[in-house]
Amino acid sequence: MAKTKILFLSDKQNKFDNFEKLLGRNTYDLYFENNEDDCLKFLINEAPEIIIIDNDMANIDLRFLPKKITSARDGIIVIIFSKDDNIPQEILRWADAFLVGDISAKLLISTINSNLRNKLSYNLLAETNKNNTKSLYTLKVLYNISSEFAGTLEKDKLIELMMDGINRSLEFDLCYVLTFNNDNKPVLIVHSKYTISDELFASLKDHACINYNNLFKNKKIPFEITVDNLICEKHIKSNIDCHTFSIYRYDNMFSPISSGENFFGLVEIYKENGFTSTDVEIFRTIIQQVSMPLKNASLYQEIKETNKKLKKLEKIKSEFISIVSHELRTPLTVIKGMMDNIKRFFTLPDKMMPAVDTISRNVKRLSGIINDLLDISKIEAGKMDYKFSVTTIDDTVKAVQTTLQGLANDKNISLLTDIQDAGTEVFVDIDRVDQILVNLVNNAIKFTPNDKTITIKTYLKDASELKDENFDDVLSTLSGKYLVVCVQDEGVGIAKENLKHVFDRFEQIENSLTREAGGTGLGLSIARQLLEAHNGAIWCDSELEKGSNFYFALPVASEKSNFMISHKQRINQAKVHNDKFATIVISADSDVIENLLKEENLIHKSYLNNSLKEVDGNIITLTLEIPDADRNFAKLFKQKIDDTMVNNKTRYPKCDIMYSYTIYPEVSN
Ligand code: ADP
Repeated sequence: MAKTKILFLSDKQNKFDNFEKLLGRNTYDLYFENNEDDCLKFLINEAPEIIIIDNDMANIDLRFLPKKITSARDGIIVIIFSKDDNIPQEILRWADAFLVGDISAKLLISTINSNLRNKLSYNLLAETNKNNTKSLYTLKVLYNISSEFAGTLEKDKLIELMMDGINRSLEFDLCYVLTFNNDNKPVLIVHSKYTISDELFASLKDHACINYNNLFKNKKIPFEITVDNLICEKHIKSNIDCHTFSIYRYDNMFSPISSGENFFGLVEIYKENGFTSTDVEIFRTIIQQVSMPLKNASLYQEIKETNKKLKKLEKIKSEFISIVSHELRTPLTVIKGMMDNIKRFFTLPDKMMPAVDTISRNVKRLSGIINDLLDISKIEAGKMDYKFSVTTIDDTVKAVQTTLQGLANDKNISLLTDIQDAGTEVFVDIDRVDQILVNLVNNAIKFTPNDKTITIKTYLKDASELKDENFDDVLSTLSGKYLVVCVQDEGVGIAKENLKHVFDRFEQIENSLTREAGGTGLGLSIARQLLEAHNGAIWCDSELEKGSNFYFALPVASEKSNFMISHKQRINQAKVHNDKFATIVISADSDVIENLLKEENLIHKSYLNNSLKEVDGNIITLTLEIPDADRNFAKLFKQKIDDTMVNNKTRYPKCDIMYSYTIYPEVSN
């Protein structure tokens, strides 16, 4: 065991000799100084654990000694011995122990031992405290980065966060990250505490090429690392030069970043004063924590790419349909005109009449199909034009009855109307309502046998009264008052399992009349999309062999519903483009909204800064600039706002959500 170093300061050698006799030299290294200068020098150079000071010295003023001793050796144990109680105040407050009068060996040794023990416990405590503070800090760093990882879907950002986390918790001198970019080119990112000379940088690059290629020989990595293809990035944290900097003198840790089969790169860090076992754990934890988000980020990237391709394909398809339909329409119009002229200006032999009628019927059918195709491609491209106005639909219902009376007469079907709540105003594009109604009545005539009845009814209903177990998802989105139009027939009906599908694109339910009646299966899909644009809904109920009821609901005109429809229009038109903004329109004052967002924990990063804008009176638009990567957040946010505002009316009586949606900004392409 190392001996305890003790220094005596006294102007009398015999006092030291006396102490030496009492203590002996087995457990102690004893030193003697008789003046202040030599004493201070000794303290600095030899660092004794204890100093024993004579209170009765003629040549040293004890009042000034404390400061000098503590600056020479902080934390030393100070023991004063004195022949009587006459000890200066300055020393009284500062010394650790006093020995007064005649001193026995027992007293001396026990004083030294107890002070040494105290010091030891104190040092241990201080050390533990330091470690605890460091662990707490590291835990905080780990916690912060793990929550930041979870909120990030960008690979580069994740690597940056990982580097930052490793640096904050392990304080490395140098760190390499080898990763690869979207083109599968290897990228070496070097983070360093010091500036790195070109020479050193070149050697680091060589080191990476040799080491990492060897390391991953057996792994399927998507790139080869050569000095020529390795892209390098330097991140230097200070402009301090470190000339002696050589990685071989440093301790290092290394880890690949991977998750299952996926390999994302590797990290290597260097530190001059080495790593503890806790450091190794932390390093491993951070790398493990980043692997999963990196996997998610790469999946997200793939989905994004696929989505982009799908959108492009969808656009090409819509354009194709649109071009082909236009091209078909022109010759068809010519054929139709010619047929009309032939019928008008020539007297044809009776034998030819059935053929001419067949041609006319088929031309009409073909032009119907082309119009449907054109409509669907316009709707899907967001190019459908709507001319909304506040109007009643009573005249339109009557007009549709008149137009289709001939068709109904052909099958001896009675086509009736039953208009209740006449004069109710709705906010609609009346031509589109006409189109929807013609389609429904046409279908009803098609799928109803001869001699039956078809009735067009209109009536007012509150959304809460509209119920249908098969169309709950559609009807539950409605709120407020609606004018419902119902086309009731006594036709073939639709089987329960097919009810929902009749509104899908190109959907036709197989029955004897379908084949006879022809059609494309587009009519109801168009009607559904037209009604969505009106903030309305379409649904049906039916019984096989008994008949069907097709309903559609139009929101009754009011300031709020008109406002919502106009807004929806704007968004639908821009929907084809990529979303970057979420805009939420809420009627409330901005304080209420800000509080609500805070209370409900909806503030996310700094999205909400300066985003509340007063539009019109008490209507607020809340625009969140949400990057592409955070689509999920935008969705969640919208949902939360909807839930909170709509379901907590009592808690937020001053809030009235007008509409919340994701807006797609104008795009140049
Ligand atoms: P189509 O041009 O084929 O009529 P729709 O989209 O208008 O296309 O209708 C889709 C399918 O829904 C029809 O093919 C038919 O099977 C079914 N359908 C529509 N209306 C009725 C109805 N009133 N009675 C029975 N079936 C109907």
